[in-house]
Amino acid sequence: MAEATSNSTKSMDAIVALCRRRGFIFQSSEIYGGIGGFWDYGPLGVLLKNNIRDVWWRDMVLTPPLGPDGKELDILGLDCSIISHPKVWEASGHVAGFADPMVDCKKCKARFRADQVSEATCPEKPSKRPGECGGELTEPRQFNLMFQTYHGAVFDEEHKTYLRPETAQGMFYNFKNVLDTSRVKVPFGLAQLGKGFRNEITPRNFIFRSREFEMMEVEFFVHPSEANQWYQFWRKARYDWWCKLGLAGQNLRLRDHEQDELAHYARDSGGCCDVEYAFPFSGEKGFSELEGIAYRSNFDLTQHQKTSGVGLEYFDQERNERYLPHVIEPAAGLTRGLLAVLCEAYTPDESRPSKVFMKFHPALAPVKAAVFPLVNKDGMPEIAEKLYHELRVRFVVELDVKQSIGKRYARMDEAGTPYCFTIDGQTLQDQTVTVRYRDTLQQERIAVDRVGAFLTEKIGSI
Ligand code: ATP
Repeated sequence: MAEATSNSTKSMDAIVALCRRRGFIFQSSEIYGGIGGFWDYGPLGVLLKNNIRDVWWRDMVLTPPLGPDGKELDILGLDCSIISHPKVWEASGHVAGFADPMVDCKKCKARFRADQVSEATCPEKPSKRPGECGGELTEPRQFNLMFQTYHGAVFDEEHKTYLRPETAQGMFYNFKNVLDTSRVKVPFGLAQLGKGFRNEITPRNFIFRSREFEMMEVEFFVHPSEANQWYQFWRKARYDWWCKLGLAGQNLRLRDHEQDELAHYARDSGGCCDVEYAFPFSGEKGFSELEGIAYRSNFDLTQHQKTSGVGLEYFDQERNERYLPHVIEPAAGLTRGLLAVLCEAYTPDESRPSKVFMKFHPALAPVKAAVFPLVNKDGMPEIAEKLYHELRVRFVVELDVKQSIGKRYARMDEAGTPYCFTIDGQTLQDQTVTVRYRDTLQQERIAVDRVGAFLTEKIGSI
């Protein structure tokens, strides 16, 4: 069995190539030469992404974590429009300030995020870091990262709107709607996942920094006096969640922000940290952000109340007090999470024909099992097909009848399929099949009518 491999020795190029080769991720519009910062999820990629998404939704909305008092938290789901009233983005501060300060190199014309100059790469060779090509770097400048569009037939200022750069704001402007239509009381959360769009100046590192990506966000509304306690709660809960996905150990860490890194809304209240992962490209810094957990105070509700003129205060019956709740926001990247899961799973193994296999947790694996007839005759294909049809109503399974058995195993190793069942000569005599374990390469025989129960037991849940 292959040993766990440190991410720093994994080649990002090899991971990208496997994703392309096996249909996890394609460059968007590839036949036209691609378009920077946009990616398409192929047949395996969409299955994997949906599995991560479903675990998050289950763990945040359907069976949320237990709070400090041992009771399940109240968290309700939302699915808001991607385009909203443009005033939403004025209120949130995005129109004025949603921008990463950037610096330009006056010689090579490359543009870098001001906070990432120390780890960015100068495109002029042989220089490595920004400025080493001899160019002077400008002072940091602001650039708005929102994609603009227009609603309706008239393309004028009045009809200008934006594609949302985050899902959070829909939860703030629906805060009162939810209170008015459900029985929740503070503390409670709203959860939403979906697409976000940011016209990133330098999309890079495969899907890590894309212009269109997916996020998974919770806004957890609390009494101001309890905000710090809830911030600590979410800090731990979200770190533990990523561990549960299989990203534990030396590749994952929780990092508190320095004071000068804090976002505008968190500056006065304090409290912001990132769950970070050691991607193969994380370089000297060693880790890059997967999720931010921020104490946003009542910044957003205050802004929306002011801008819309609609009162958003909450009346707390138990306290007999009216207030704008404070918010703890765990904001994660689904597509970044997917990249972390891909990097973690990528396991070189020279002993295999594929030289590599994807060691996904069985519950996350896009395909749970493959069914192979050893040869395409002697009644084996019929048994394989029957087994495949029985299994596919409960699991994502593949039937593969082509090529040698070795090549079929190799394909499944690269897809990260944890179990392969082969129908062979012995099956015809004693109704058993071979099960081959992806991680250990062990093989054993089990009764063909036990395969469904075997998968249920082995895949389990995360
Ligand atoms: P970064 O510092 O990497 O730009 P951020 O701090 O601006 O990220 P948030 O606004 O906190 O990110 O967004 C929440 C999460 O959304 C991030 O933790 C990340 O996982 C994901 N995310 C943000 N921007 C992108 C992007 N351009 N591509 C893919 N995922 C992203």
